[in-house]
Amino acid sequence: MLLTITTTHKPATDLGYLLHKRPDKTQQVELSGGIAHVFYPEVSETRCTAALLLDIDPVGLVRKDNGPAGNDFALQQYVNDRPYVASSFMSAAIAKAYSSALNGRCKDRPELPATPMPFEIRLPVLPVRGGEALLNDLFLPLGYTIIATRLPLDEKFPAWGESRYFDVTLVNTVTMQQLLSHLYILIPVCDNDKHYWVGKEEVDKLMEKGKAWLDQHPAKELIVQRYLRHHKALISDAIQSLLKEELPEVEAEVVAPRMRAHDARLLMVKDELLATGAKSVADLGCGEGKLLRLLLPEKQFEKILGMDVSYRSLEITQRKLKIDRLPLSQQERIQLVQGSLTYRDKRIEGMDAAALVEVIEHLDEPRLATLEKVLFEYARPAHVIITTPNAEYNVKFESLFSGHMRHSDHRFEWTREQFRNWGDRLGNEYGYAVQYKAVGEEDAEIGALTQMAIFKKKE
Ligand code: SAH
Repeated sequence: MLLTITTTHKPATDLGYLLHKRPDKTQQVELSGGIAHVFYPEVSETRCTAALLLDIDPVGLVRKDNGPAGNDFALQQYVNDRPYVASSFMSAAIAKAYSSALNGRCKDRPELPATPMPFEIRLPVLPVRGGEALLNDLFLPLGYTIIATRLPLDEKFPAWGESRYFDVTLVNTVTMQQLLSHLYILIPVCDNDKHYWVGKEEVDKLMEKGKAWLDQHPAKELIVQRYLRHHKALISDAIQSLLKEELPEVEAEVVAPRMRAHDARLLMVKDELLATGAKSVADLGCGEGKLLRLLLPEKQFEKILGMDVSYRSLEITQRKLKIDRLPLSQQERIQLVQGSLTYRDKRIEGMDAAALVEVIEHLDEPRLATLEKVLFEYARPAHVIITTPNAEYNVKFESLFSGHMRHSDHRFEWTREQFRNWGDRLGNEYGYAVQYKAVGEEDAEIGALTQMAIFKKKE
């Protein structure tokens, strides 16, 4: 089982200092149950890769009494996947082979551990109970771009179907300590199995390695449950400790719901796009690429186009999605273009679906009339999904004086009736059926925070 960490930080050879392992030597670290080898398959000023290769002895494991239990059939203790996959053994190896880095220490170059660096991590065989959805739930909130391919049970016998193992590449710009602490906890969480008895000290390990990020992770309960192997008493200890470290109330109340609302809105748009069956999608007014990041791991989307009028937003998107560091096959799926929805543009023609998330309210009325033509007459995707604020909901915001809008750049905010009138008119003029949905919790009187229209071409 193998874990590689690549950086393009300059000079990339700083990786050797960070990991306390010299790039010109192969080193061995003894683990209970096997040996970990650290070596560098690639070393240059611009790109450097460290590999952690585990050589696990399944028979030795059983003899040491900490191997997988052999209840199901007699050979299971000896014949199991543990030697070949990234599991909690990998976490144990990270903790031992990269202990200084995991603790944020670097004797020779004390400034390095606090420096965020571009990293690409590859785990060629990661068991994931819960598939790609789980990978997304665990790694997306931490800012990773994820490329995962499910491996077949046996390449020679495709009829046997797919396995629960994935070839996973993760890309992110973080500090080495953040990176290792994420992997330390989340590898066994993906696997949902542990090789040693889970005891009280596991709670301390989890709290210590996760202290900087776990309490704010949206999937923290699942992480704690899986990490502690569903051990009830330990789980409640851990949840208690996490709650103690929760953000001060005011901040949590003000910032978190807004963030959550936008994240939830984007997830809903993604689901609606998937449901259309679209293979090619355009995110028009993509901003900083938050929706694109959710679309990228979905294999259904063979072609993804992000368009925005703001060059700066596209630069941020390019950087956040780390597009130039994705494998070529993935780079080919996604394209970012600068353009305005108020000009006819061949690049957005012929797509299966388009989304405009919180975009139309940024255009003033004459421009909106042009956008309608550009989108529904010329581009004519089979499906269009549009979201916009519901003005009726604004009474809920105490800080908004009546009649004011949520954002200084909004040219209008519509009631549900105004939005329906607009959508129905477009549907009639251009031959689309329209469906309206509330996005977010719906109040009986004033509706939800956001409103959505789904247009479906009639032909
Ligand atoms: N859809 C993104 C961003 C919403 S903010 C999200 O939900 O996170 C609105 C975006 O629309 C901004 O990025 C802005 O630059 C873009 N925009 C405004 N007018 C535009 C136009 N005429 N053509 C294309 N994009 C436009």
